[in-house]
Amino acid sequence: MMMPRSLVSSADIGLNDIRLMTSNARKLLPLIQPSTKKTLNHLSGRTVATFFCEPSTRTRCSFELAAKILGAHTIDVSPEQSSLIKGETIADTIETLVTMGVDAIVIRHSQDGLPQALAEKYGKRIAIINAGDGITDHPTQGLLDVLTLIQQYGSLEALQGKKMTILGNITYSRVVGSHLRLIPQLGVAIQLVAPDFFMPSIVEREEWHKQYGVTFTEVLEEGLNDADIVMPLRIQSERMDEFEQSLIGRYSQGYQLNHLRVAMSCKPGFVVMHPGPVNYHVEITEELANDPHISLIRQQVACGVALRMAALHWCIES
Ligand code: ASP
Repeated sequence: MMMPRSLVSSADIGLNDIRLMTSNARKLLPLIQPSTKKTLNHLSGRTVATFFCEPSTRTRCSFELAAKILGAHTIDVSPEQSSLIKGETIADTIETLVTMGVDAIVIRHSQDGLPQALAEKYGKRIAIINAGDGITDHPTQGLLDVLTLIQQYGSLEALQGKKMTILGNITYSRVVGSHLRLIPQLGVAIQLVAPDFFMPSIVEREEWHKQYGVTFTEVLEEGLNDADIVMPLRIQSERMDEFEQSLIGRYSQGYQLNHLRVAMSCKPGFVVMHPGPVNYHVEITEELANDPHISLIRQQVACGVALRMAALHWCIES
């Protein structure tokens, strides 16, 4: 019997796996549009459980859809409907699913490192897939953004030498956690932009710079200067205390992306991405987020389904 493979940490995903998953996902992408018949049998007879302890639209729905298109059975173990609400532990919930013969569990939780801990304990019997843990990591978001960029520029090699600027609430963003571990592997330079109140500590910045080569600035124009790809992040107000929430207005005033700000500094042909959900007029204007000539946000959503199909296949069948 084949051993399941867990996908829990972006730090464990090397260039070969990025290549494999994105090239498989590219072949599947034509399926992800209205009025195509979406029935494959790569995972037929397999079962994928989704277990989301934090809200989600894109990640949860795309994993479920990806599993269904590949012919797997799907079950949802959302906390409000399960015995978690009666006080059952997460470990017992996973043990129950393993015993039922479920092949993979896609988990999102506010506890940092939980998917890694579960993979250590149960990874020989079930594939654990990290769909976002606390403020740490979101590996499939990183991979789907790589796929979106490959689609945009034509190949993985074409990304070499590009500059990606990620801005916003860096301290609380698990998207940053995945992107800085995955994207520099492709030769893309990452610059992180935020006011001091949304910046990680100096120690963390030095560490990230040393390990991943990322650079930092508090000056928006400097961050946008010569950028090929710009990604504003959602302000994670659900993770903030009252004081931090009171700073959101100041952030918007100084850093909200609009057509003028990006056009003045970015490289000609630049693109804008966003992991979603977007809070219009906080981190980006509605007009810019929905500008089809600049924004790849819709492409990211479609790439999310194809990439998660490839990721499920990588975890369960390859
Ligand atoms: N959807 C992404 C996440 O789960 C981004 C966000 O929620 O801001 O981290």
